Order: sequence, then structure tokens, then C-alpha cells
Amino acid sequence: MGSIEPSGWRRLSVGVIGGGIGGLSTAIALRRAGHSVTIYERNDFAGEAGASVSCAANGTRWLHEWGVDVHKGDPVILKKLINRDWKTGEPVSVYDLDDYEERWGYVYNMFHRQYMHKMLMDCALQDEGAGSPVKLLVNHPVGRDLARATNFGNVCVSHQPY
Ligand SMILES: Cc1cc2nc3c(=O)[nH]c(=O)nc-3n(C[C@H](O)[C@H](O)[C@H](O)COP(=O)(O)OP(=O)(O)OC[C@H]3O[C@@H](n4cnc5c(N)ncnc54)[C@H](O)[C@@H]3O)c2cc1C
Repeated sequence: MGSIEPSGWRRLSVGVIGGGIGGLSTAIALRRAGHSVTIYERNDFAGEAGASVSCAANGTRWLHEWGVDVHKGDPVILKKLINRDWKTGEPVSVYDLDDYEERWGYVYNMFHRQYMHKMLMDCALQDEGAGSPVKLLVNHPVGRDLARATNFGNVCVSHQPY
């Protein structure tokens, strides 16, 4: 059980199922909010794949808010959206994003998916930064009907619903 403070806030023990980009982001947000987090991931990330993931200003804002070291993700900052003719490669339209950061407050990042995943994992697990490091358990599949309490071998795990 979490300890209850006069404000009504209490530190929860939260289980996150899945350590993809969504699960890691959720875990970082919960860690920063003061909760204790364990991620259960069915794979071991050995076969990670992917190409470019767009992270516009609304996403970049959260990376900064959570203290994620964005440079670790080696992003390319989007400056122009160029639509090209399929056959000739000639530009059909160009949408200029030069004033993007000025307008939206944060840049438009393009990450390689694997780098983004690693960047978020490092942030979630590292000792540095606010909150307790997230615990990541790989090779731990969780059954659909066992989202709140599950058994891994002889070990029974339970978390509070958030
Ligand atoms: C291989 C791959 C390549 C991709 N490449 C791109 C790309 O290049 N560009 C792009 O924009 N988008 C890409 N996507 C899509 C984008 O990555 C996803 O939209 C985004 O990662 C979704 O994040 P997610 O955390 O919701 O899901 P996922 O990244 O799919 O993560 C879900 C995680 O939950 C785990 N999991 C699922 N069920 C269980 C369970 N029962 N118990 C325990 N763990 C479980 C999975 O193993 C997985 O690690 C790719 C997705 C994949 C899978």
C-alpha cells in the first residue's frame, strides 16, 4: 500500500504492461510523479526494429518536461515537409517549418525508433533524475485476465490500479 499524505496524495506501486515507447513514456511520467513503477515486457528487445518516428512539439514538450536526454535519441529536426513527384522526384509542394519552434515552443523531432526506445529506456531506468528508477522485467508476458495480479512461476505480483 502507498502511504497517504495529508493532501490525499499517495505513492502507488504501479505495474505497466509492455515496455514499448508507450509503456516507457508512461513509466517515466509515473516515476516523475513520485510513484514506484515496474514494467512487465514479454520480449527481451533483441529484435527491435523500425524507421523514423515523428515527435512534434506536443511530444517534444513532454520529453523536456520529464528531463529526457533528447540528444541520446540522435534526432533530426524537421525544417521542411517536401512532397515529391513519385516518378521524377521533383518537388510538388514544400511546406516550410522554419518558424515551427517559434510558433509551437518546441522543435519537431524525427527519431529512429530504436534510438527513441533506448533514449526512453535509459531515462526510465537510470538513477539520475526525479523519482525512483523504474524496474524493467523482460521475458515477462502478462495474460489479459491477469492485468492486476499475476503469477510468474511461484511469484505472485500485485499492483494498485491507478
Ligand atoms: C517493429 C516495429 C517497428 C516500428 N517502426 C515504426 C517506425 O519506423 N515509425 C513509426 O512511426 N512507427 C513505427 N512503429 C510503430 C510505433 O513504433 C508504434 O506505434 C509505437 O511503438 C507504439 O508504441 P506502443 O508502446 O504503444 O506499442 P509497442 O511499441 O508495440 O510496444 C508494446 C510492447 O508491449 C509488449 N507486450 C504486448 N503484450 C504484452 C503482454 N501481454 N505482456 C507483456 N508485454 C506485452 C510488446 O512486446 C511490446 O514491447 C513500429 C512498431 C514496431 C512493432
